Amino acid sequence: MENKNVLVAGGAGYIGSHMVQKLLDDNYHVVVVDNLSTGHRAAINPKVTFYEGDTRDKNFLDNVFENENINTVIHMDAFSIVPESMKDPLKYFDNNVIGMIKLLESMVDNHVPNIVFSSTAATFGNPINNKKISEDDPQDPINPYGESKLMMEKIMKWVSQSNDINYVALRYFNASGAHPSGKIGEDHHPETHLIPIVMQTAYGQQEVLKIFGDDYKTPDGTNVRDYIHIDDLADAHILALEYLNKNKDSNTFNLGSSTGFSVKQIVDTARKVTGKPINAKISNRRPGDPDVLVADSFKARNILGWQPKYDNVEDIIRTAWNWKQSSPEGYEN
Ligand code: NAD
Ligand code: UDP
Repeated sequence: MENKNVLVAGGAGYIGSHMVQKLLDDNYHVVVVDNLSTGHRAAINPKVTFYEGDTRDKNFLDNVFENENINTVIHMDAFSIVPESMKDPLKYFDNNVIGMIKLLESMVDNHVPNIVFSSTAATFGNPINNKKISEDDPQDPINPYGESKLMMEKIMKWVSQSNDINYVALRYFNASGAHPSGKIGEDHHPETHLIPIVMQTAYGQQEVLKIFGDDYKTPDGTNVRDYIHIDDLADAHILALEYLNKNKDSNTFNLGSSTGFSVKQIVDTARKVTGKPINAKISNRRPGDPDVLVADSFKARNILGWQPKYDNVEDIIRTAWNWKQSSPEGYEN
């Protein structure tokens, strides 16, 4: 019988908590590892087995794998804030790269066969001619966060070649939105991501949204990103689990909607969805931001059979607004 035991490393975080919900909906048995550095105890689903600890601690991981018969690790735990990584690169290389090494060491020692890894569009740097990014495009990160994730991809690839481990690397573009229940959503402290900050401004928790630069090489001068709903991301992971169990080989996919929106377009759409004025002003560029990041997601659609359900950014923002209205202070209450 198929082993449906999955470990979500980082399951108390934004994407992790939605992943856990999807796995439970699909009748997987879920174990969560998290050190709660950026995640929330309240975001951990009561139906999972939770181990509080750090993925850089191999003894801790060995103990988890000895207790649980894990078939696949979904490796989501990492630090992921671009501007913070520009200020403190070592924090990123320590947490992200060492975390990957220790996790793989423990997987090898405990014969865990599969890993699905949360990689990122930030591994690509500034794509040439701002074209849609496909899997084989050059990876040349322009910030330490993206560099740490590229290093993690490479470490995982080499380790899989000399051990009985297969991987699927999923390079997310901009994860956004929230579960339609309004019970889980994005809650980072401090919040740095665009859509939740726009929601805070719409809700009156922040006076003005700063748009970081309007002199980029884009039609309206503001950065263009590919916003993909969190539930569609979670679906892709389920397909990745099935891929690993069926094909017993490794692969890499870009996950985005393949449509780009500028910062100004996001703000305008949010005004429409929320009916609020949303004060915005142009401010300085934020270091480390590429002009345009939009995915070519043909490969994921073709090989995994992935079909994002949220195909317009208005619906994505609506779910983020629903979360803001049902939990204005995030998980704090
Ligand atoms: P998050 O900060 O909300 O979640 C990360 C979780 O990992 C948190 O619960 C945190 O406590 C935990 N964690 C961090 N370091 C740990 C460690 N050493 N040991 C144990 N637990 C640890 O971030 P998120 O937005 O949910 O992102 C999840 C993953 O997706 C990250 O790997 C990130 O790089 C990747 N990603 C995110 C986006 C995005 O748009 N949010 C885009 C591309 C890739
Ligand atoms: N951004 C902005 N103001 C903010 C937060 C973000 O203008 O208060 C811009 C940021 O410069 C980037 C885009 O919004 O161009 C998306 O940023 P986010 O941090 O959400 O994701 P990233 O693309 O860095 O992963």
